[in-house]
Amino acid sequence: MVEYFKELSLAIDLVRKASEITEWFRTKHSSSFIKKDDSPVTLADFASQIFIISEIKKNFPEDQIIAEEESSIFLNSNAEEILKRCYKSLQINFKKNLKEMLNYRGLSSNRQWTVDPIDGTKGFQKNLAYAVGIGLMIQSEPMVCAIGVPNYKNTSLTIFSAEKNNGAKVSYGVQNFTKIRVSDIRELKSSRMCYSLHYNKPWVLDFAHSLGITNFIPMDSMAKLCMVAEGSAEIYIKPMNIQHSFTWDFLPGELLVKEAGGMITDIKGNPIKYVNDKCKVTAPGLIASNGTIHKDLLTALKSNEVLKTS
Ligand SMILES: [Mg+2]
Repeated sequence: MVEYFKELSLAIDLVRKASEITEWFRTKHSSSFIKKDDSPVTLADFASQIFIISEIKKNFPEDQIIAEEESSIFLNSNAEEILKRCYKSLQINFKKNLKEMLNYRGLSSNRQWTVDPIDGTKGFQKNLAYAVGIGLMIQSEPMVCAIGVPNYKNTSLTIFSAEKNNGAKVSYGVQNFTKIRVSDIRELKSSRMCYSLHYNKPWVLDFAHSLGITNFIPMDSMAKLCMVAEGSAEIYIKPMNIQHSFTWDFLPGELLVKEAGGMITDIKGNPIKYVNDKCKVTAPGLIASNGTIHKDLLTALKSNEVLKTS
């Protein structure tokens, strides 16, 4: 029995349509800007976020929304025209004010949706992996998620989804959803490890080499957590900024990995927590695994320099 059927269905529908939006921009209109934090943002991020927020607001008007993009200074009239052209060509009937919808967050509520309109913008810009991630937390507890990954393993669009205590699923292309599970590999040495293509730190690979790991998958976005969840990789280690990590980046993938039978903690072994838009960790890194090797990884990490200095 799916308790949050309506929420899960909406999240899945939204990542599907938002992925059409981002793909429209990827092939037709690739202008981008640099945000205050030095990270890139594109018109596709805005178009995707505005569409997702307006649909959540329509379906769950009482719910709060936590979304990544807010730099509406980039949305000039020329940019707005391009967004409208995109919506029209994808038969999205959009009559609202674009800037207003980009920044709409609703009233404070214990039901909070997280929206990452494009996770892995650098990957998106280079025609590599990226994802659209939506989550719902209730009283700071992840309950529902959907992640759209265009071009995942050469499939047009792969959608991952999970509901708390109800398992994780995947749909490749137009196929039906099927359950996914993490792999059962027990040896660190034979594990396949994902790491962040554009936001990695040297200690991650130094640590992996010290364990004898040889099979690496460098990739952008939360698609790495999808790979661990569906058993295509056993480990993902990501450096994190303790002060500046955000809920929309981690919540969907965390729920997916856990519901697929895997584990995810910070590199000290503590659980990840969410307080509104902030993702809280006690150490500067996250580790996701198939679960069976998690304890071995944490034990090995204990003697790592990055933990001694944090
Ligand atoms: Mg993003």
